[in-house]
Amino acid sequence: MKTPYYLIHKEMLDEGMEKLKLAAAKYWPNTVIGYSFKTNSLPWVLGYMKKHGCYAEVVSEDEYGLAEYMGYENIIYNGPVKGRDSFERACRKGQIVNIDADREIRWLRKLCGSQPGRPVRIGIRVNFDLEGMCPGEASGGEEGGRFGFNYENGSFKKSMESLQEIPEAQIVGIHLHCSSKTRSLKIYEAIARTACRIKRELQTEFAYIDVGGGYFGGLPDRPQYEDYLRVMTEILREAYDPDRTALILEPGTSLICPPVEYATSVTDVKETSRNYFVTTDGSRIHVDPLMTKKSYFYHIEPVNRTENEEMLKKQVICGFTCMENDRLFELRDAPALREGDRIVYEKVGAYTMCLSPLFIGYFPAVYVEDQGEITCVRQKWSVDEYVQKHEYSDIELWDSK
Ligand SMILES: *Cc1c(COP(=O)(O)O)cnc(C)c1O
Repeated sequence: MKTPYYLIHKEMLDEGMEKLKLAAAKYWPNTVIGYSFKTNSLPWVLGYMKKHGCYAEVVSEDEYGLAEYMGYENIIYNGPVKGRDSFERACRKGQIVNIDADREIRWLRKLCGSQPGRPVRIGIRVNFDLEGMCPGEASGGEEGGRFGFNYENGSFKKSMESLQEIPEAQIVGIHLHCSSKTRSLKIYEAIARTACRIKRELQTEFAYIDVGGGYFGGLPDRPQYEDYLRVMTEILREAYDPDRTALILEPGTSLICPPVEYATSVTDVKETSRNYFVTTDGSRIHVDPLMTKKSYFYHIEPVNRTENEEMLKKQVICGFTCMENDRLFELRDAPALREGDRIVYEKVGAYTMCLSPLFIGYFPAVYVEDQGEITCVRQKWSVDEYVQKHEYSDIELWDSK
């Protein structure tokens, strides 16, 4: 297998899925799992999640189309920029649609007006003051989150009232996904408390509470699915009954981050007056496309090593992209890396392969390993894929000369 490539360990993926399902069954038997497409929408992964009974959790017209293409019967449609066609299709099919913007209320009013008397079930995304409840933890920080209708300033109540004016619209659920810096149990406590508060203050029943994603997965010293579910359901039970209200979870990272590796090879080493660089055929754009991570999980697989290795004080491991900042990590007081050595990054399945640009190198191959057997589930992209659907007829192609 030629580096760079991604490798999905199917048994690790199975293990995470099993743990999630067991925890859900234990704490809230009436649970639905919606797999977050945006976290990793590799078709093989989507097929896997569907086979395991997950709903598709999508946030755009394109993702909605992908869920349909992949044969998902159950779709959760979220996000502030839904497409109108897919929004109407989802409403008509009775999918779970969580309204995030005023224009969706307008779309719904028109849709219902076109077929009076035909009920449409709808959920609402709640925007609440997570930073106030968990100081320092919310992704939006002091600036606050930008999704959904704000609870504290009355926007949420107003949107409920607008929806109640549409005779066909039935408000069946609330969506409380929050992204956080910490993925801590406190975040989920705050989500559950807010769900209870809304029910009490607005005197409404809901068919589902969608608590979103954002969980840790596969890290022994971090909260487990069991912990998240225990904490949330203990609070939710104060106001909700599992027989009447379904719990919706939208995991992405916790499921697909742990089982994916990215394998690279050293192509060259060089010394400058200021540094010692190790160039590899992998890149930061494949494991950290947003260039924000400060460290990586990795291991090194040296080739043909002898006893007395040359030790180096500092080696800077770099990627293939010709950007100066494509530097992955530094090795301190370690044996000198050599051409052909492999560096394998671990736990890189979330927001990587679906977020990488087609920059300098095209998408790498993806393999799946299952009980020692390896299958290619995406071939490396070549020039053929890169130029597909492009117009370039005025360019004289080399092979036509
Ligand atoms: C991104 C997102 C998720 C998944 O988040 P992870 O951190 O990958 O688990 C779930 N729900 C919604 C609405 C999202 O935007």
